[in-house]
Amino acid sequence: MHCPFCSAPDTRVVDSRLSNEGDQVRRRRECLECGERFTTYENAELNMPRIVKHDGSRMPFREEKLRGGVMRALEKRPVPIEQIDEAINRIKHNLLAAGEREVESAKIGDWVMDELLAMDHVAYIRFASVYLDFGDVNAFREAVERLEQKAPKKKIK
Ligand SMILES: [Zn+2]
Repeated sequence: MHCPFCSAPDTRVVDSRLSNEGDQVRRRRECLECGERFTTYENAELNMPRIVKHDGSRMPFREEKLRGGVMRALEKRPVPIEQIDEAINRIKHNLLAAGEREVESAKIGDWVMDELLAMDHVAYIRFASVYLDFGDVNAFREAVERLEQKAPKKKIK
């Protein structure tokens, strides 16, 4: 692994530990040239299904894209990054567990909605307003109704 600071070819692992779920190895590395330290994460590579978009086109699953959408909805909301990571992991797990070679993007959108509903109501509505077609008033009303059903049980932090 090349040093990201000086591109020296040799770095040394100074610490290595498993994540809480045991599905990721976190390594602290030190550059032998410049002495800078950095962290790498190692995951098993699993074959994610391809994503089928509304227009029928297919594209590879991209975690950054999923995370980007979730992060935008949660912008400036008081939700810790660990909780967001867990939500992303659950969605990825759902994708793998589905055991399908292709999954519709709408399904992922629904999973994101479920996660946001549990995490932060403002983010949930933000995401719903972007994700659900504005022309589809019923879908948006349904989303709001789900929130109303949920609201008495869970306090907004
Ligand atoms: Zn270096």
